[in-house]
Amino acid sequence: MTLSIRFRTLELGLRDPFVIARATHGEGRRITTVIAELRDDADGPDGPVGLGEGYPDSYYGDTPETMRAVAPLLLEAIASVEAGLRGSLAEARAALAATEGLMADVVSHHGAAKCAIDTALHDLVGKRLGIGIRELIDLPGVLPPTDFTLGIDEPAVVAGRATRAADFPALKIKVGGSSDMETLRAVRAVYGGPIRVDANTGWTPEGAVALIPELQALGVELIEQPFPARRLDQLRWLQARSPLPIVADESAVTSEDLDSLVGVVHGVNVKLAKVGGIAPARRMLQRALDMGFRTFLGCMEETSVVIAASAAVSPLAEWADLDGCLLLADDPVRGLSIGADKRWRLADAPGLGLELDPAFRP
Ligand SMILES: [Mg+2]
Repeated sequence: MTLSIRFRTLELGLRDPFVIARATHGEGRRITTVIAELRDDADGPDGPVGLGEGYPDSYYGDTPETMRAVAPLLLEAIASVEAGLRGSLAEARAALAATEGLMADVVSHHGAAKCAIDTALHDLVGKRLGIGIRELIDLPGVLPPTDFTLGIDEPAVVAGRATRAADFPALKIKVGGSSDMETLRAVRAVYGGPIRVDANTGWTPEGAVALIPELQALGVELIEQPFPARRLDQLRWLQARSPLPIVADESAVTSEDLDSLVGVVHGVNVKLAKVGGIAPARRMLQRALDMGFRTFLGCMEETSVVIAASAAVSPLAEWADLDGCLLLADDPVRGLSIGADKRWRLADAPGLGLELDPAFRP
């Protein structure tokens, strides 16, 4: 095995407090993410470094410690394709496509560690071949604009933040607090675009079904994960009564979850942090589309490493919520930019085209 990885755990402040219905670490004021630097000894001491990221969300069983614990197993698992990763474009693509299965064979889940390795591998291979991520993964299409997410807070506070985010083509509003409808009415009073609501498992079926007429009247576009992840019965019950699409997030971790969601919800929210990176996210999005789901591509409060990686597969998503790095007070990564139309612009540089700010290096 010639690949080696170094993880750096970063604690980053949030621009605004970010509270969701589920318990959140850092009391909604700061987040923990893990930046990965991947090297291949075969490239020599001055070889390229693949920059990756994994977001350790304890809800999904991931912590910085579990990432460090499983990373050696995952690297060992992909040793058989190391030569392919150093090969031609066609060989590298085949090797990258094989890593998801190889890693899944040694340990299931652990999306954060797998995402860190997968994103760093794509960056490394792109740098070696001198091509950008979109050419590397060969996924044509237009990047959809991202929405902007507002956490739970006092209705007037959320409305104030909505005013500041008025140039985004859609807003995602976290609900499941004590004053959801007051919040949504206050946002609607100051913002004209579509509103997506995300209850993060915090609603009840009776409560949710009673809200649907007003949610529709307020211009809500979709309802994300109203009930606990395993309550597919409740999700199915609500979807049968809702003209608005119900989107599974916590219930839709990997591609294998899609089968049980057929006839349950109309949409699924795919995230690199849950599914394990670029290649598995692409496969899950494509599979979801093939199965007739509407596709949402989301993120955690990540730096622009995962946001750039997500943007590369976003042509497969109808809806994009790729605002993680915009929620940070100070994104430690340079190279990704956003247009006035709120579509991400990947740097015209090899790999993900990103650089870690030297200030965040030890
Ligand atoms: Mg969600």
